[in-house]
Amino acid sequence: MSSLDAFAEKTLADLDAKALRRNLVATARGAGAGAVRGGKALVSFSCNDYLGLSLDPRVIAAGQAALARYGAGAGASRLVTGNHPPLVALEERLAAHKGKDAALVFGSGYLANLGLVTALVGPSDLVLVDALGHSCLFAGAQLSGATMLRFRHNDLDHLRGLLGVRRARHGRVLILTERVFSMDGDRAPLPDLLALAEAFDAWTLVDDAHGLGVVEPGARAPLEMGTLSKTLGSYGGYICAARPVVDLLTSRARSFVYTTGLPPASAAAALAALEIVEAEPERAARPLRLARRFTARLGLPEAESPIVPILIGEAPAALALSAALEARGYLVVAIRPPTVPAGTARLRVAFSAAHSEAQVDGLAEAILAERA
Ligand code: PMP
Repeated sequence: MSSLDAFAEKTLADLDAKALRRNLVATARGAGAGAVRGGKALVSFSCNDYLGLSLDPRVIAAGQAALARYGAGAGASRLVTGNHPPLVALEERLAAHKGKDAALVFGSGYLANLGLVTALVGPSDLVLVDALGHSCLFAGAQLSGATMLRFRHNDLDHLRGLLGVRRARHGRVLILTERVFSMDGDRAPLPDLLALAEAFDAWTLVDDAHGLGVVEPGARAPLEMGTLSKTLGSYGGYICAARPVVDLLTSRARSFVYTTGLPPASAAAALAALEIVEAEPERAARPLRLARRFTARLGLPEAESPIVPILIGEAPAALALSAALEARGYLVVAIRPPTVPAGTARLRVAFSAAHSEAQVDGLAEAILAERA
């Protein structure tokens, strides 16, 4: 065996021993939050399609029309000839939705965060990241070469202390947080955080991947980032900001400049979805309402978003509960370290406008039965 293969096998064996190996499972999604795995039909609570828009006939038709008219791919990077009309229209609509001058669409949310952080800060600067921030926020901070410090999750006293000690030592300071935290479903204290940032002349990026369209925004940050892949049912990422910031990113964000533009169908589908988000507020309110119905049934703290974590602790126990629920017809994937901190393996339950009340109640009963 080559040393490469031996390295891979040994590392996988170590992951297996800790129940931390990841395996792909083919999953076909369908209407009504359905998912078919291994020939078995399940009700999925592990999808970020919060408003069920990725399967909405209007969204699909918009994608199909753009595919037919503009082709399967953008053909080039945006700055060459890949800036097709659906992208331009989508950016205008995103900026308006966020109340910003302009928006810039990237190949994914991950690429948007990498591009933004590396374009705005460098080695003499400071990045302060919420400890429960998404992997791509940390990756961007590391790639930028700036000094990176984590502040305790949603702890503004800790953040204030770090700013007080560190601010004067650095030129630019960038704070990275999330409107809705992806694995905990709680929300950043944005009005106070933004006021604190301003007092120290620090810039704030709010990652709105899990907030757009499903929670009240609360307050808008100077840098609003998000994804097209969750509520908007498509694929891609974006930054909304003031015009000069977006123009700077257009020239300087390497993960924007040196990569092909999104396919026309992805942009057109996301635009159709955003129009539905704005036109149908009763749909947008539904996932949070279902999440609160669920937390009330289980006696958990009231949900702040459509994401509800059920904390288990160790990975094998989280996998076992997930398997037991799957046997009862519910798909709730276990989330393990390093996605979440050690000792906090959990089931992450995500609610969608596509769920029925009966499905939500059924899942709550199944969990109570399994944990009895
Ligand atoms: N930020 C957060 C908080 C996320 O949860 C995700 C996706 N898991 C991303 C960014 C990355 O977005 P994308 O999937 O579009 O790359």
